[in-house]
Amino acid sequence: MLNIVLFGPPGAGKGTQSEKLIEQYQLKHLSTGDIFRANIKGETELGTLAKSYIDKGQLVPDEVTINMLKAELEKNPEAKGFIFDGFPRTTPQAEALDSLLASKGTEVSLMLALEVPEDELKTRLLERAKTSGRSDDADPAVIQNRINTYNKETAPVKHFYAGQNKLQEINGLGGIDEITQRLYKAIDSL
Ligand code: AMP
Repeated sequence: MLNIVLFGPPGAGKGTQSEKLIEQYQLKHLSTGDIFRANIKGETELGTLAKSYIDKGQLVPDEVTINMLKAELEKNPEAKGFIFDGFPRTTPQAEALDSLLASKGTEVSLMLALEVPEDELKTRLLERAKTSGRSDDADPAVIQNRINTYNKETAPVKHFYAGQNKLQEINGLGGIDEITQRLYKAIDSL
């Protein structure tokens, strides 16, 4: 199985690039942000809980997020592999993903970490807000919180995969196709 963790701060291009990768490698896309937003739209209990964190730019608690991810993995027993987009965002989530995949006889193949400077992230998120309908993209204070949360809680996850020799940092600046080619190259050299 090919299991890719597509990593990076908010606005780095994870969603855009995931679309390219699922097509190229026939992978199942698991975006925890998308799943939370679908639950918010469907007015589920999980959605209500998630919204209270998302609106502030904070992380949804690990236990909730990990249980949701586990259920999604179980819904897709036939998948050839997965793109994890926006997960794991904490070291406990990374540990949980390792054991979930190990229980299925597989593992994370590679973490691709998109690197984009903070100023560019803010510009991209405010631009995206015009069409995304996401209130967490439209408020500069929430954007700043999301970036701070990334730096404090999420960026350390890179060390987790570096320790397993699975981290590849990818320059996330440039044209969309140019960045896609960098990702393909990293995956194809596995
Ligand atoms: P995203 O669509 O990846 O930007 O995620 C939007 C929001 O959903 C984040 O700001 C978090 O509040 C929440 N979220 C998404 N994925 C996770 C995760 N793996 N752990 C905790 N919270 C998450």
